[in-house]
This record gives sequence, structure tokens and C-alpha cells, in this order.
Amino acid sequence: MKRKKWQIGGWAWVVGMMLWLMPTAVFGQPTAAQLTIQPGDTWAALSYRFAADIQAANPHMNKQRQPTIGTAVSLPPNSQERNGVLLRSGEGGLLATAVRQHTSPWAIALHNDLSNPYRPLLFQPLFLPGGDNPPQDLPIGFAELELSQPIGEPGIALGWRTEVAETAVISAMLDDAPFVVVGNGRYRVGLIGTGAFYGRGEPYLTIQIDGQPLWSQPWRFNDTRNWIFQEINYTGTAAEIDQAAIDAERARLREIWSQVTPTPYWTGSFTLPITDYLTITSTYGDRRSVNGGPYNRYHEGVDFSAYGGTAVSAPAAGKVVVAEVLNVRGGAVILDHGLGIHSGYYHLSRILVEPGQLVQPGDILGEVGTTGLSTGNHLHWDFLVGITWIDAQSWLAQDMACWIRAGLGEPCPSPANNSG
Ligand SMILES: [Zn+2]
Repeated sequence: MKRKKWQIGGWAWVVGMMLWLMPTAVFGQPTAAQLTIQPGDTWAALSYRFAADIQAANPHMNKQRQPTIGTAVSLPPNSQERNGVLLRSGEGGLLATAVRQHTSPWAIALHNDLSNPYRPLLFQPLFLPGGDNPPQDLPIGFAELELSQPIGEPGIALGWRTEVAETAVISAMLDDAPFVVVGNGRYRVGLIGTGAFYGRGEPYLTIQIDGQPLWSQPWRFNDTRNWIFQEINYTGTAAEIDQAAIDAERARLREIWSQVTPTPYWTGSFTLPITDYLTITSTYGDRRSVNGGPYNRYHEGVDFSAYGGTAVSAPAAGKVVVAEVLNVRGGAVILDHGLGIHSGYYHLSRILVEPGQLVQPGDILGEVGTTGLSTGNHLHWDFLVGITWIDAQSWLAQDMACWIRAGLGEPCPSPANNSG
């Protein structure tokens, strides 16, 4: 029969494709399924999710700490995934937890081999099957926790965002460095800047909500950038004099940079502050050795060489907090964009704004010059999260401005003419 023959041919084709697609599974050792760790994928959450001993499947990993966000764990062969909720019974014990989950303490006891649901459980994780999502072990009251990128790196703005009860009070740290935490109703965003020397490793992301016990999980950091190395030579006593002036000016500006305006001034994506430039002569994070010393400094901003008098404009809305001539930075304008984000424009020949003024994207701040410690006409643009310099070019490329606004439940249109 013609039809039957077609069916045999069809099955032969399917089997052939399967052999071609899975050569290792059929002929060699099976490739273990892997899972990239997200926030909340703790050992307990993974074990409930796959109903398997995930630690045993990963004998090389340190069991004394939770799996590191951004790394991969192996899953046992034929792992079946199941949805559910992981609960931590906080104050009020299991009864209060059951009420919050609209279930009975006996239902929770049934799924967790508890003989008596009224015994105190402290903060032991409990599993409730069902729902649409895999169980995750997040801070109490967090339905989810989203990161701006899965693996951290030096010289960028890193963030997390979540939704919680409107009254929730949250603090967060990356090892011993605090996040700026901002909110809007149920929305919360945490922001931190990693400097250009932030190393590889696994710092702890730690979050505390409403005085509950700390939640923490290690987070993987990589450094894949090809940093540029530059030698700078000062003669005579210039190096010491310059360093003293640099330190004094920096100390004063640090007071300004550490201010956190609790709402963003910006409403859309950021743009470059200068369009008519010749070339970028120095990028953020360039490693610098002075007079043959160690490469223990880095370039804190981006240098655009341009003709004197070229217009410098605001990349986004903000409030002018500095508009004056400084010793090292020369003609200087600093904008407060809100949420602890500041940007600076230096070596200007003319300053066209005043302290306290609110500027809109594209407003002219001043003109390119070579004032202060400068050897030619250029704009030095720096960008800070808190008191940490980050790479403004990555901020633009990642569109962190809109990622943050979305995290606060706010719209964030891109500028109409953003193609240049
Ligand atoms: Zn510079």
C-alpha cells in the first residue's frame, strides 16, 4: 500500500534525524543536561524542582555555599522538572505561612514529610507543588528577582529589580558595598557601580527585607575586556603637585556624587553628549602607569577630541549641580540624573548652564576647550553610580536608563533621532 510505504519511509527519516542530532547520546557517553543558576536556584530549590539530589550530581562544587549565580550545574540524567513554590516559614510559623499561601498547614506538611505541622520550623524551606513557575528560594516576599545581566563584570552599572509589598523596606549589598535601592509603589530597583579594577570572583549578593534574616547567594564575575595599557610621564615635582590637586578636587566632588536624589530626572534612553567629535582618544578603564610605576590607576571617563567651541549637550534630563572652573577638570559641568547617577563634562572653554538649573536632553551645557589639566581640545565625559566611575559607553549600549525605569514601572521611550 502506498500509504503504508510512506509511513515506513517517514519513520526511517525521523530515526535518521534523531541519530544525526544526538550522536553522543546514542553512541557515546550522554551529555549531561545543564542549568545556568539564576537568583533563587539554591540547593534546596533545585532539589525540589528536579526531585533529585543535585549536589550529588555536582561533586566538584562547594556544598558549603549556595550555587553561584551565572555558573552551570549538571542535572542527573532524565531529570523531570516540576513547578511549585518554595516557602520559608518566617514569623508566625507554618500556620501564618499557610494562610499567606491560601492553603492548610496539613497540605504543606503532607508535601514535606512533616509529622506535625505545628512544630516550630524556623527558616527551613518548604515545598508546595503547582503553579506556573519552578520553585525558587528568594528573599521572603519576593515573587521574582531579575538581574540586569547574568554574570557581573568590571566598570559597569549592575542592577536587580523586583516587586514586593508597597511598605517593604529593602537593603542590599555586593559583598561589603551597598546597592542604591529605590522604589515606586510595589517596584524596587537596586543599583551598584563596579569600578574598572573590580576583579573576577564570586562576591555575595545579599538582600534584607523588613528585618528578616539575610538572604544571600554568590554571583559570578568575569573580566573579558581587553583593557588598554598606557604609560604617562610627568617630570620634576609635577606628579606630586598634580596628585595633591587631584585628591583635593576629588574629595570635594565625592560629596556631590554621594547624594542620591530618590527619583530619576531622565525619562528616556541616554545619548552621546557630543556628536561633532573627531575621535575617541581614551576610553574608560584604560590602565595607567605613571613614571614607570605600577598600573594602579585607570582613566575614569571617555575622551572625545574635538575642535574648540564644539557644543556639548545633556545626554538626558538632569539637574546641574556643578558649573564652575576647577583646578584639574577646568571648565566643569556635573549633572545629577537622579538615583545616585551623575555625569560630568570637563575642560570646557565656556559654561552655558548654572547650578540648580534643570536641563532636558540635548540642551547645550557648554563648549569644548582645553582648560584645567589638559594638553589639547577635548571633552572628558565621566559617569558615576554613587561614588564609583563606570563606563558611560556600556551604560548606553545596555540602555540601563530604560532597564531601570521599566523596573520602576515607568515608561521609557527612545529618542526619535537616536540613529547617529
Ligand atoms: Zn580624560
